Amino acid sequence: MTARILVVDDIPANVKLLEARLLAEYFDVLTAENGFQALDICNSTQVDLVLLDIMMPGMDGFEVCERLKASPKTAHIPVVMVTALDQPSDRVRGLKAGADDFLTKPVNDLQLISRVKSLMRLKTLSDELRVRAETARRFGMDDVAREADERIEEGAQVLLVDGRGTSQERIIKALKPIATVTAISDPQAALFDAAEANYDLVIVNSNFDDYDPLRLCSQLRSLERTRFIPVLLVTEQGADEMIVRALDLGVNDYIVRPLDPNELLARSLTQVRRKRYHDRLRTSLQQTIEMAVIDPLTGLNNRRYLDNHMKTLFGRAMARGRALSVCMTDIDRFKSINDTWGHDAGDEVLKQLANRIRAAVRGADLACRFGGEEFVVVMPDTDAEAATGIAERLRIAIETEPFVLPMQGRQITVTASMGIATLTPQVQSPEQLLKQADQALYEAKHGGRNRVVAAAA
Ligand code: GH3
Ligand code: MG
Ligand code: MG
Repeated sequence: MTARILVVDDIPANVKLLEARLLAEYFDVLTAENGFQALDICNSTQVDLVLLDIMMPGMDGFEVCERLKASPKTAHIPVVMVTALDQPSDRVRGLKAGADDFLTKPVNDLQLISRVKSLMRLKTLSDELRVRAETARRFGMDDVAREADERIEEGAQVLLVDGRGTSQERIIKALKPIATVTAISDPQAALFDAAEANYDLVIVNSNFDDYDPLRLCSQLRSLERTRFIPVLLVTEQGADEMIVRALDLGVNDYIVRPLDPNELLARSLTQVRRKRYHDRLRTSLQQTIEMAVIDPLTGLNNRRYLDNHMKTLFGRAMARGRALSVCMTDIDRFKSINDTWGHDAGDEVLKQLANRIRAAVRGADLACRFGGEEFVVVMPDTDAEAATGIAERLRIAIETEPFVLPMQGRQITVTASMGIATLTPQVQSPEQLLKQADQALYEAKHGGRNRVVAAAA
């Protein structure tokens, strides 16, 4: 992970120490000795994370953090405040200033590296989402772009696995501002619940008398349904060995008792955001794929999808000596529907026709919008006779049930013509099969429209 980290501290020895540790982990390190320099650097070069001292002459860490978070150019950079252990109020102020996490001086190696890595993973995800939102905006897909602007951490669902009632209460209270917490004291029951429900975070408290909490962590990581839920481990002071093992198992972060409610809140927020970013990226990827293969007006597959998928269906039918038929449908005198009732009415007819096609075909059939008012259905394991029967039923369903135009307050009768072609030993390619269907359709039009014609075998 090559990330660029800015270390800000007015005491050179502190800077040197953090720099050396980060360099040892192959991070790229920049340094600043006061707040003004830090802001300059963040505004002029790419910075992936800021480690920020609080007590500095001129401008203190709180103000630096506030300024970074107030500017759209730098607001997305994670900020880790380096606070003194005996100043818990600093954490509250840090949170108010928008800090993403805290480290306590003297900085422990394990904490430093695990925090930095956790925040870097989060930033990678959020950067990716920002790029996608930008792209969505450029293509005018405002829904997708708007979703990216929503507060991502709202209404979090947290599962707390904790053997003790008193600490359950404390944690539920600390997380109240951001989350609904379900507390379970039996680890096995918790695992089942995590697999069933849709949690944004699982907090595992390692305070069980006779149960190894890492067993639960490992199970959470290996189950398909819980693999992507972040896990936050609560441990004892000095349990470094357990922490290292936990991080190895894929636990996302840890927090040490006695619990500081603000620290717990900040850590939980980071993990919840991470989960939500993840989910959003997955949805956005799905949307991108769908957009590439689905016709937005009718929701049917588009021509591109047909061209690709038909190759597969064609090859399969050839290889197995199975039947394959294609039905090409074209609305009759569609131009006059547009001319008489307007383009919107035409669109409405296309949508309703697509629904009738969907209702007429089987799950294994491939229904597509082929072009303007032309539709293609590819039917595996269907011979010419069966295909003609299906097309005829569809034709009748179109002709007999009037199309409702709600905007115009009208019902109109629509008809369509259909051409059928079926795979024979003479057919060499999917294109040839489509061409035969197109020719049959042409005959149907010439024969007077509102009819089904099957290509001669
Ligand atoms: P035919 O019976 O010979 O098929 O006559 P037709 O009028 O249906 O055929 P033609 O190909 O002359 O006209 C098709 C019309 O479909 C022309 C075009 O403006 C319209 N069209 C194509 N795509 C859309 C669309 O997405 N929405 C609307 N409303 N109209 C469309
Ligand atoms: Mg037409
Ligand atoms: Mg046409």
